[in-house]
Amino acid sequence: MYSLEVLSQDKQRISVKLKNIPLQYANALRRICLNGVPVFAIDTVDIIENSSVLADEGVAHRLGMIPLKTDLSKYVEPSNCECHSETGCSNCRVMLMIDSGDTDTTRTVMSGEITSEDDTVKPVSDKIPIVQIAPGQRIKIEAYARLGRGLEHAKWNASNIATLIPTEKEDEHVLTVETTGALSPERILVDGISELSKRLEEFKMLLAELK
Ligand SMILES: [Zn+2]
Repeated sequence: MYSLEVLSQDKQRISVKLKNIPLQYANALRRICLNGVPVFAIDTVDIIENSSVLADEGVAHRLGMIPLKTDLSKYVEPSNCECHSETGCSNCRVMLMIDSGDTDTTRTVMSGEITSEDDTVKPVSDKIPIVQIAPGQRIKIEAYARLGRGLEHAKWNASNIATLIPTEKEDEHVLTVETTGALSPERILVDGISELSKRLEEFKMLLAELK
């Protein structure tokens, strides 16, 4: 019999024992948990002001790599959104702002200074450094986040780590998933399983068409 047993679970990590699940499916699930479940990341950046020493592209890259809390019940991926618009709409994108203001001393602008039009979509941590500014320097940026998958770019990875380790018993593996913080680890696993079954279903249909 197939079985899936939760061995341990906390806010960051979940470990499950997979029994009698063929290795290629277990491994496909591992990969999907890593980069096949959609999460939010900043994708478009409008630099209104950047007088820091870091180039605009550098600031945009840093912002893109900040994991964002993701609520999958409220948003859809742009490719599935009814707006069919390149700029997106309130169902498929979220606007974030950051304005360092002026500073008297050299300081580091942190992720906690980012404000979001939707409080459920915001940096997972307030303590991620973005850029250093000195007196007379300032950054002011408008950014748009959207759902995406790590397959497209690593900034959309749902997990930092996803490992599959065999146990001493035959046909038994332990899958461990560590979240970036965007989603809960159990949500990644549950969505990963439904994504895997969706892909297998699509594959089956494709095979049926070939016949
Ligand atoms: Zn839309």
